[in-house]
Amino acid sequence: AADSNLIRATLFPGDGIGPEIADSVKQVFRAAEVPIEWEEHYVGLEVDPRTQSFLTWESLESVRRNKVGLKGPMATPIGKGHRSLNLTLRKELNLYANVRPCYSLPGYKTRYDDVDLITIRENTEGEYSGLEHQVVRGVVESLKIITRQASLRVAEYAFHYAKAHGRDRVSAIHKANIMQKTDGLFLKCCREVAEKYPDIKYEEVVIDNCCMMLVKNPALFDVLVMPNLYGDIISDLCAGLIGGLGLTPSCNIGEGGIALAEAVHGSAPDIAGKNLANPTALLLSSVTMLRHLELHDKADRIQDAILNTISEGKYRTADLGGSSSTTDFTKAIIDHL
Ligand code: NAD
Repeated sequence: AADSNLIRATLFPGDGIGPEIADSVKQVFRAAEVPIEWEEHYVGLEVDPRTQSFLTWESLESVRRNKVGLKGPMATPIGKGHRSLNLTLRKELNLYANVRPCYSLPGYKTRYDDVDLITIRENTEGEYSGLEHQVVRGVVESLKIITRQASLRVAEYAFHYAKAHGRDRVSAIHKANIMQKTDGLFLKCCREVAEKYPDIKYEEVVIDNCCMMLVKNPALFDVLVMPNLYGDIISDLCAGLIGGLGLTPSCNIGEGGIALAEAVHGSAPDIAGKNLANPTALLLSSVTMLRHLELHDKADRIQDAILNTISEGKYRTADLGGSSSTTDFTKAIIDHL
């Protein structure tokens, strides 16, 4: 029977290793007594004409209704006549910002041990507007669209995030010295929003310089906000700083307060069904979902258990140099709760 104290959240276990790592999240949530009731939806076997994709209309309605969800990796079906799954989700749910917390995992050695930054990527326009054409033979054109509305929206989210998470600086990443109109407008919008947040420091950093600073000393940054293409590149660069995509959580923010958390990695068909997958990225994504719901006690408890398990080093999956199965690693996390 439905319990009225439970928060309903949509769960897309996804494909490949998706169901195995989603199972790990379900087990950890149960053990930590997180007040969430999952509504599970799988990618359909045929195209749903209402979404023109393999995602069913009901699954999208579920996210719209619950306003919060967790998504495992989805394998993109091949063939014509349908929209890609990620594009469908982004368009239908108006997912305008992609947020990636990126912090060093204690005990898992990488080049840096003091990374603690957040990248916030505008996710709807820029160079990803899909407006490319041939002008004449040998000359093509691609349109980069920047709007005041979308720039203000993502800047607002970045400052709101900084304030809500006790962070004190927002850096807008740009190339406005060359892209004067487009990146210029993006910066103008960030400045306007910054004025409403006098307690948060605001700075502007040119993308090329930002890359150099990130690889030399990532501790220089706090919250970064940027247009689509720069965000695509910088967020992967930052994932590399802490040990790769297998550890990196993310959360997509949509219109009307929707939050859809997802791991950054794919469905890993090479290890699917073998109990070898590392559930860390999806688990840490589920933590971002709990923080969005302001369930900070549960989020802290689960995050600490994950980090302590990895740092202790006794149970690690193969991608982190260990030999534990997904289920043993999950059990170890539950023991650390
Ligand atoms: P992938 O991320 O699935 O795999 C790359 C490598 O990383 C593989 O060797 C894999 O075993 C390993 N890996 C990934 N996640 C892991 C985990 N949690 N634990 C241990 N090892 C892990 O990338 P790919 O092979 O390029 O893509 C496979 C499928 O995933 C494709 O169908 C692609 O379209 C899809 N994909 C989906 C998303 C998404 O849904 N957001 C993102 C990327 C790729």
